Amino acid sequence: MARHASPSARPFRLVPYFFLLSLLLMGCATSLMAGYLRHYSAEQLLKLEKNRAASLVQIFENSLWPDFRSLLPLAGKPDRLQQAARQVHLREAVIGLMRGTDVIKLKVYALNGLTLFSTDAKQIGENEWDNDGFRSAAAGVPASELAHNHSIDAFEHTLTERDIVSTYVPVHRQDGRVEGVLELYLDATPFVTDSEHQLWWLTLAICALMGILFIAQMLVVGHAGRIIEQQAKSLADANRDLDRRVSERTHELETANRRLHDEIAERRRAEATLDRLAHHDTLTGLPNRLQFQQRLSHALDRSAMGEHGLALLFIDLDRFKDVNDTQGHHIGDLLLIAVANRLLAHVPPGDLLARLGGDEFVCVMEGLEKQDAADAAAGRLLSLFERPFDIGSQDIYLSASIGISFSRQDGADGDTLLRNADLAMYQAKAAGRNRCLRYTPELSSALEQRVLIERHLRQAIEIGEIDVHFQPKIACDSGELYGAEALARWHSPALGEIGPARFIPIAEESGLIEALGDLVLDKSCRQLAQWLADGFAVPSVSVNLSVRQLERMDFPQRVESMLERYALPPSLLEMEITESVIMAADDAVAALTTLRKLGVRLSIDDFGTGYSSLAYLHQLPVQTLKIDRSFILGIGGGQDGEAIVRSILSLAANLALDTVAEGVETAEQADFLRKAGCSAIQGFFYGRPLPAMDFSARWRDAALS
Ligand code: C2E
Ligand code: CA
Ligand code: CA
Repeated sequence: MARHASPSARPFRLVPYFFLLSLLLMGCATSLMAGYLRHYSAEQLLKLEKNRAASLVQIFENSLWPDFRSLLPLAGKPDRLQQAARQVHLREAVIGLMRGTDVIKLKVYALNGLTLFSTDAKQIGENEWDNDGFRSAAAGVPASELAHNHSIDAFEHTLTERDIVSTYVPVHRQDGRVEGVLELYLDATPFVTDSEHQLWWLTLAICALMGILFIAQMLVVGHAGRIIEQQAKSLADANRDLDRRVSERTHELETANRRLHDEIAERRRAEATLDRLAHHDTLTGLPNRLQFQQRLSHALDRSAMGEHGLALLFIDLDRFKDVNDTQGHHIGDLLLIAVANRLLAHVPPGDLLARLGGDEFVCVMEGLEKQDAADAAAGRLLSLFERPFDIGSQDIYLSASIGISFSRQDGADGDTLLRNADLAMYQAKAAGRNRCLRYTPELSSALEQRVLIERHLRQAIEIGEIDVHFQPKIACDSGELYGAEALARWHSPALGEIGPARFIPIAEESGLIEALGDLVLDKSCRQLAQWLADGFAVPSVSVNLSVRQLERMDFPQRVESMLERYALPPSLLEMEITESVIMAADDAVAALTTLRKLGVRLSIDDFGTGYSSLAYLHQLPVQTLKIDRSFILGIGGGQDGEAIVRSILSLAANLALDTVAEGVETAEQADFLRKAGCSAIQGFFYGRPLPAMDFSARWRDAALS
């Protein structure tokens, strides 16, 4: 989680706040002080004026009050007051007294507020009862008030812009009671002007003082503000640094956390991969042997508790090794994947399909009521091989052999069930492949037999117990002996007669075939040399060659030394090699070329059943094609079979190769082949493989005759 540095708070701006506040406060203080001063000076002024008025009133009172008193009786008749003859006299007397003083007006009131006299004659008879100053004076307390008049009528003329102090002063009788009120207007303008002047200067001085104070304060506060700003700045810097370090550390922690997460995820993935690898076959993705064993044992537990049985199908591809050897491992792998996918698509859900390795698959079927159900399922799986597999833009035909074992009767545990299904499969292969067989207890002994055969075969080869029989090949044009094929025969004193179809595959699988091949070659060469020495001119003797022999680096040397040992012309010896052997052997062309250089003849055995392409055939230094017995069987049976034989013959003619037809049993077949242009015929029709003595006895005479 990304963490952002918090925005540093703006530093407190002391100076502007202080500036405003102190300006406000100082303004207030100044105006308060100025106001108070003004008020105070006005008070002082009034007090002064009041005193002055009081002393002046005394003058008027002393000189004129008896006259004014004479007007009192007229207090109830305002209209007569105006006309009173004394008014003029009084006015002159008052003005006389006023002259030389600041008094600009004098008014005299009766206690009822009626103006008895005024220097301004118009005002005589007006009532002043409502005036507070009058009332105060009437009550015995003098009262003054200051007023600024824009215009006021003085006794001589009209005055403008004047500050006037009017003072009501009570006039007491001898008994102390108030008899009347005098109001005196004093011109205070010069005094007020003077005091305002002073006031102004004072205010200015205060303002200046305040200003200086303000500036001094601002200097101090400004300095403090700068210190605060600096501190705030360094605090912000420290904060930013802290934020940066926190964010860096957070980032580090997040990265570490992510790495940890990644590592955990990676470990989980690795564990999952290991688990998958441990339990799955990497090529096909099917469960492997380990998973198969685990699931089989669970399935057996379930089956033991339930009523239904469990079948184990052991599926092995036929001649897969040939595909692998001839087409390469890559194609072999693709084929295995295709087979796995096809099988998987047809294995019922819930049943298990696993690959044990190589071309071996197993299928565990649960919940079967009868064994027949397993047979039917195996049959369906076999039928999947009827369609070719499309691998790398070529169609590959393949078959499989399936062995079936059934729980309860064929084994209580997984290992036994698997071994027995394997045995049944092995038997299915032995019975001709492309089929399924159920396990029977007799099969176990077949396996034991196999082991027995291998053990005895090893001994037989060591002591030369293997015989070689010879089967004639007859030239079609002359009917004479064309050659002989040397075929291994084994009569074991312990096991009895055992055919090559039985012991050759065992020899090949156990590796005994090299020694066996050497033995047959040696015996054949010796026999040929013997015949030649005896005057039996056998045109050639052919021996069968297995892939292991062909692959041996020193094989051509062995042949060469053999020919030398028996002083044989190389052209009398022929090697029969099947197409699959040629394809399987590493660098077969080189090996065959070396052999050919010795002068030995080469023949392709079982031609038509393998995979060799015509282009490849072209490169091989062979002289003969042996047409496989399966094609000969087609002769007489229909047009197709004969057409194949014809096309093989014409192909051989094109390549200038001799042709030998194998397994010819009938005159019809021999007839057809002769007419079709086949070079030679081999088969029971002319003769079975015979021991050397019998062979020479039979064919020496024929050659001679
Ligand atoms: P192959 O090379 O195709 O040999 C021919 C087989 O056909 C022989 O079987 C022969 O007895 C049989 N045969 C000949 N004519 C007829 C006929 O008219 N009808 C029928 N039904 N069969 C006929 P054999 O001797 O049992 O040999 C079987 C295979 O064993 C041979 O097939 C060959 O591939 C292999 N084999 C035999 N001897 C040797 C050997 O010394 N070395 C190697 N590497 N393989 C050998
Ligand atoms: Ca042969
Ligand atoms: Ca053959």
